Amino acid sequence: MDLEALYRDLHSHPELSFAEHRTSGVVADALTDLGVEVVTGIGVTGVAGVFRNGDGPTVLLRADMDALPVLEDTGLEWASTQTGVDHTGATVPVMHACGHDIHITCLLGAVERLVADRADWSGTLVAVFQPAEEHGGGAQVMVEGGLYDKVPTPDIVLGQHVTPLPAGMLGAHSGPAMAAVDTMQVVLHGRGGHGSRPETTIDPVVMAAATVMRLQTVVSREVAAQDTSVVTVGSLHAGTANNIIAAEAALGISIRSFSEEVRGRVLSSVERIIRAEATASGADVPPDIEYGERYPVTVNDPEATARTNGAFAAEFGEDRIFDPGAISGSEDVGNLATAVGVPLVYWMLGGGDPQKVAAAMAAGTAETDIPSNHSPHFAPLAQPTIDTGVRALVVAAREWLA
Ligand code: ZN
Ligand code: ZN
Repeated sequence: MDLEALYRDLHSHPELSFAEHRTSGVVADALTDLGVEVVTGIGVTGVAGVFRNGDGPTVLLRADMDALPVLEDTGLEWASTQTGVDHTGATVPVMHACGHDIHITCLLGAVERLVADRADWSGTLVAVFQPAEEHGGGAQVMVEGGLYDKVPTPDIVLGQHVTPLPAGMLGAHSGPAMAAVDTMQVVLHGRGGHGSRPETTIDPVVMAAATVMRLQTVVSREVAAQDTSVVTVGSLHAGTANNIIAAEAALGISIRSFSEEVRGRVLSSVERIIRAEATASGADVPPDIEYGERYPVTVNDPEATARTNGAFAAEFGEDRIFDPGAISGSEDVGNLATAVGVPLVYWMLGGGDPQKVAAAMAAGTAETDIPSNHSPHFAPLAQPTIDTGVRALVVAAREWLA
């Protein structure tokens, strides 16, 4: 397979979450050409390749396939000019701004190499190409769509994400590695009326203001000093005119946490405060609380992570392995592992130009000079990123395969 050509093709044909029709077709065709058993349409557009190679453990390698509503501004010859229709029905530009095209390319390259080297190992390889990581919880949708009825249950789930760190570097952070995110849409119901006669109304603006202020006490008063969480009220809307008391107020809340225990406590505290402030205001109707995007904490199994990082160090040399630390971004790869109670190892793969990264680090301008994932300028180097990503998947898989 010409992996760089494949990467450029995927990059110039990005598709939004659950719209990865062309992409999943490209993946299914490539897997078929490699002689791998292919299952399509798992969780809308998900694809899995299964390669049974005798007795031994089953290893699941995962890549996500979706792109983002971003207008590409990389100046690359193969930059995207595509548009798509987002979940609100709007036509938007589409770009592989999170590098999932790199993930697909590396996983197909790894399958090709493992199939070619099949005399050297035994066991079962499962390659999962997941839709909708960015929006819609594609991993869980695949699980609910019968993923593990259609492919063998793995003994371990492995995957990687490209980052702006120097190309050729890689490593996994042990334990909680990426934050859980929970988004909440809240409607506070009051009673509208004339601005001059508040005694006839239940003012949702005051209710919302009290709720927002009291929510600030969740992290400061209910989360222990050694734990961490973020509660952000990112949107707040109510009312149309100075002399009208509105009937309702709407809040959009985003919550991040790094352990299921803290997450559960923070969510129940947030819900309790929202309901209690409505009661305190004398609301006749309780608030509507609806959850949107929800991803669990991404937890790397410590033992399996140490083993994987050790295999990377042996393959690439210690100087190419780094610990990225816990990341406040979120991922849904963990659902593929927790659904069947097996360990996960998810590592970061450098894709940045090493010279540019080094120069920006030296100048202290990395935050502004190095485009991050989701930026319209995010353009990982094709090489050595793809080669490193392929080898990392092969080495990690071979660590578990017999
Ligand atoms: Zn992303
Ligand atoms: Zn991503």
